[in-house]
Amino acid sequence: MNNLQKYQIYVDGNWRDPSSGKYFESQNPYLGKPWAAIPACSEDDVNRAVEAASNAFENGEWASMSATARGRLMRKLAALIEENARSLAETEVRDNGKLIAEMGGQTAYIPEWYYYYAGLADKIEGAVIPTDKPDTFNYTLREPVGVCAMIVAWNSPLMLLTWKLAPALAAGCTAVIKPSEYTSASTLELMKLVEQAGFPPGVINVVTGAADVGEALVRHPKVAKIAFTGGEFGGIKVYEAAAAGLKPVTLELGGKSPNIVFEDANLDNAVKGAISGIFAATGQTCIAGSRLLVQESIYDEFVEKLVSFAATARLGDPSDKDTQVGPVTTPGQYEKILSYIDIAKKEGAECLLGGGPAQGPEGAGEWFVQPTIFGNVTNDMRIAQEEVFGPVLSIIKFKDDKEAISIANDIMYGLAAGVWTQNLARATIMAKRLKAGTVWINTYRAVSFTTPFGGYKRSGLGRENGQEAINEYLHTKSVWISTATDTPNPFVMR
Ligand code: NAD
Repeated sequence: MNNLQKYQIYVDGNWRDPSSGKYFESQNPYLGKPWAAIPACSEDDVNRAVEAASNAFENGEWASMSATARGRLMRKLAALIEENARSLAETEVRDNGKLIAEMGGQTAYIPEWYYYYAGLADKIEGAVIPTDKPDTFNYTLREPVGVCAMIVAWNSPLMLLTWKLAPALAAGCTAVIKPSEYTSASTLELMKLVEQAGFPPGVINVVTGAADVGEALVRHPKVAKIAFTGGEFGGIKVYEAAAAGLKPVTLELGGKSPNIVFEDANLDNAVKGAISGIFAATGQTCIAGSRLLVQESIYDEFVEKLVSFAATARLGDPSDKDTQVGPVTTPGQYEKILSYIDIAKKEGAECLLGGGPAQGPEGAGEWFVQPTIFGNVTNDMRIAQEEVFGPVLSIIKFKDDKEAISIANDIMYGLAAGVWTQNLARATIMAKRLKAGTVWINTYRAVSFTTPFGGYKRSGLGRENGQEAINEYLHTKSVWISTATDTPNPFVMR
């Protein structure tokens, strides 16, 4: 471990070694080699971080800071992220193997969340309520919920964290973050900017480690709310543990999103939409359009265009701006993708492109998978129902609108959906009937700080982004004031 970049955790405004004194390796997925040593935290570190966050929430500078000053501090952080966007992107690429073309865009875009929510910080307003009761004055206060645990997946570490941290800070909460054990480095790099921005100690803390660290965080009695992005299995565990402590949760989980191409679509655009839906980010995205529904009448023509376009994808070094498909992030994920390719073949899906491991450039590690397309998939196959989280597309044929909706909704997930058509009526009917938190018409993958994002069904609970997200970090308190001079009968409730 001596030759690796060694990180410390960030707790109560200090950089610390983990109390265990132990570290684990973080891999560079492109090289398939370790590059950083990450603190292996224990429950001791979690307790220390939650105490610091609780103390910062209850006492001290942050607790008494005006909402306007909070917003100002968030703007400072936004500006620092802007200045350091490139190096944050490079850390992400080194640690999670996604393309610099994508990560560079993400880290440059992240400041917008902090600016947006900084603007909201001093616009969190209660209401004066004209109640039915005589001689009373009633109003509401919107108050931060307290210490928030933020547990994040590995596929877009800083972006997924930002969706939680920016609204939580604007609301006045404090945070203990646990990044994925596969991609902790960028979050720890971000803490250098948090420190530089001048956030009071304890407002933002980071502990690192695997699921056990997340579990300790979720069950800590001083954690008031949990915001989680990850897989369904972890999400259910977190939900169960949160239920035991009666804590509110936001869960952003998996997906198997339908991307639906009608015969009246602009087919060239739809091909690009299908490609970006499944091969961008090597398919390692919750919103992957991994079920492509194509209308029967254009099936052959469309599939031919799609396969020939996909066959041109350039695999390679993610830090090269011209690379289009990078490595898979973890060895476990690599094995999982290959096992789903086998499952699809055994189920009788027709392999139209790829279908196995790929050879990366010279000097690269082994975690490359060929962009893979399966045709003639039926919706009951596992390859159509289960999240692969890799560059594997399943194409399903449909006859008409009714069948498209029925196949699209016949799934336990409901994160997103795409529709390709030039018929406005069809587009709006589909948007209404698809059971998904986001529907894209003639586009795919658009997300913004302005716009709520979240899942139906087993894709999650609650919403991130947009004005709505701030409510996930606030309580509403009702205040009653009597203006009566007398209480006529104290034994009767009024
Ligand atoms: P994961 O569930 O294995 O891990 C996510 C995080 O939770 C990690 O930090 C992990 O250490 C922690 N964790 C796992 N089990 C836990 C437990 N029982 N208690 C507390 N913490 C626990 O997921 P992953 O493999 O890192 O990410 C991939 C998954 O994330 C995919 O299913 C993907 O669809 C989903 N995802 C969803 C969104 C969204 O916004 N809906 C975005 C990105 C990724």
